[in-house]
Amino acid sequence: MSENLSASQKKIKNEIVLRAIGSGAGAGIALLIAGIVYFIFAIEPIFARIGLSLIVFTVSFFIVTKVTIYFLSDDYQCEACNATYSIELIDTEEVFLSAIPSSAIKNGGRVTSADREGKHIVIHENWIEEKYDVTRKYRCVVCGDTYQEQGVETRKTSFSSTKTYR
Ligand SMILES: [Zn+2]
Repeated sequence: MSENLSASQKKIKNEIVLRAIGSGAGAGIALLIAGIVYFIFAIEPIFARIGLSLIVFTVSFFIVTKVTIYFLSDDYQCEACNATYSIELIDTEEVFLSAIPSSAIKNGGRVTSADREGKHIVIHENWIEEKYDVTRKYRCVVCGDTYQEQGVETRKTSFSSTKTYR
């Protein structure tokens, strides 16, 4: 597979690769598979077993990272000109919609320490639920085509919690 990418496309591609590795998907799944191999194949001597696990780790890390990059890359392909690694975020606009004080009461279990032993812990949580109308603008670095995605995002702010006993 040969690719002819411009400098800005290469930059986007590098970001995707870093995200794929950084997301931990590659490392996590590879480690899991290597661990399974280590315990299932009870090969002697021990260094052969560790060696095999290391090979399995390397191969599965490579494959999982590749697959993750493949799926992430889909989001960065331009629908207008088909160029790969060409979509960049150029602008984010947020419009404040509402701020609603919210609260919740949670069961914190029972007290086990000496004073108040056996009492129920009640956790009272308070926060402000803020809603924003968010518009993100994207542009293709190859053909210049722009498009935008819009949606409502919710954020919890001013979070606090207190405990009471019953
Ligand atoms: Zn394009």
